Amino acid sequence: MLRPDVDIAILGGGCAGLSLAVRLASSGQSLCVLEPREVYTDDRAWSFWRTAPDPFEDCVRASWTHWDVTGPSGLVARGSSGLRYETVAAGPFYDRAQSMLADSPSADLVVATSAGKVRKTAHGHQVDTDRGTLSARHVVDTRSPRRVPTYGQFFLGREIRTERPVFDAHRVHLMQFRNGYSEGVDFVYTLPFAQDRALVEVTSFAPASPGGSVFSAWLDAEIADLDPGDVEILRQESGALPMEVGFAEPDDDSVIRMGLRGGAARPSTGYAFARIQAQADHVADALASGAKPRPMLDSQATRFMDRVFLQVLQTMPDRGPALFESLFRNAPPDRLERFLSGSTHPLDRLSVMTSLPPMPFLRAALTRA
Ligand SMILES: Cc1cc2nc3c(=O)[nH]c(=O)nc-3n(C[C@H](O)[C@H](O)[C@H](O)COP(=O)(O)OP(=O)(O)OC[C@H]3O[C@@H](n4cnc5c(N)ncnc54)[C@H](O)[C@@H]3O)c2cc1C
Repeated sequence: MLRPDVDIAILGGGCAGLSLAVRLASSGQSLCVLEPREVYTDDRAWSFWRTAPDPFEDCVRASWTHWDVTGPSGLVARGSSGLRYETVAAGPFYDRAQSMLADSPSADLVVATSAGKVRKTAHGHQVDTDRGTLSARHVVDTRSPRRVPTYGQFFLGREIRTERPVFDAHRVHLMQFRNGYSEGVDFVYTLPFAQDRALVEVTSFAPASPGGSVFSAWLDAEIADLDPGDVEILRQESGALPMEVGFAEPDDDSVIRMGLRGGAARPSTGYAFARIQAQADHVADALASGAKPRPMLDSQATRFMDRVFLQVLQTMPDRGPALFESLFRNAPPDRLERFLSGSTHPLDRLSVMTSLPPMPFLRAALTRA
């Protein structure tokens, strides 16, 4: 019988692919990560409420206990007693993953290589790449999704250094609502690293992106409004994250999907980093024990709640800012943070449901039921 080249082929060496690879690097199974990039850069920052440990805790750049939301009736300033909102910078994350894989005799990260078609064979799979064919017992596909979401979180952000101290470094501004940039809900997100340094991001939850030039002019105006003096742009990031229940490409019998392609973005928020870590734990454990991985992140009840929430946002975008304000004002912060991080605990869910005005959600729930 022909032996496969490797036990596990991971297609895509981004957040999900590398998160899985580092967990498998010392499992004794041979693995190969295929990644088209030649060089990794500090291309994004992942922020999330930490609810569990992961192998990248050394890469946390900053953390906060205080956050606020500015809604139609004013500021909602809250603080966590249990969880912290943390930011993992992509540059150190990629460095750490690369060095852990370099230390493993059974793991290979092959850059400058794209994966193409995957075929099932009698003994596993064959993966076409632009450097030839690779055979593997298991294939995990984390490549960027092929389709554009029908509703999503679209954003453009710049990390800037300002001449004047214009940021409060102790408080994350999660949402400051604005009007009229997209067909959905528009807001500014500010992640302050120091009084003179922050990531400022203009964001739309909308059926389509307002477009690069609208975003760019909007972000210029937001930064100018800070009265910052001279501004140095340190880095820029943009994204289009799915906010759709069931966005994942369907599992077939053989290929395991992870990351955004595997439905890792929480449909109601677009948050994905912590969920990718949970997926990676699950898939690594299953592959190590010979079980079939079933990286399901959401219960039926959570999927239903997300569907209802998204239906309200999509059909009544003008009510979005007030709904988010109610949610952030009324829900106990720790329960809300856990819910936004993916908790399916009934009390977390109940706290979120009771913090929102019931009528629009009941109507949407009835049309969904
Ligand atoms: C700018 C930005 C900021 C974000 N911020 C947050 C945040 O603050 N909090 C949060 O929870 N989530 C955030 N997200 C969402 C999510 O966490 C990230 O998108 C995350 O990187 C998704 O991981 P992934 O592995 O699915 O995709 P990626 O990290 O994008 O990895 C996909 C990989 O597939 C590779 N690939 C593509 N084509 C091929 C091919 N043919 N063959 C092989 N490989 C291929 C790509 O090069 C890439 O490396 C952010 C997303 C972006 C874009």
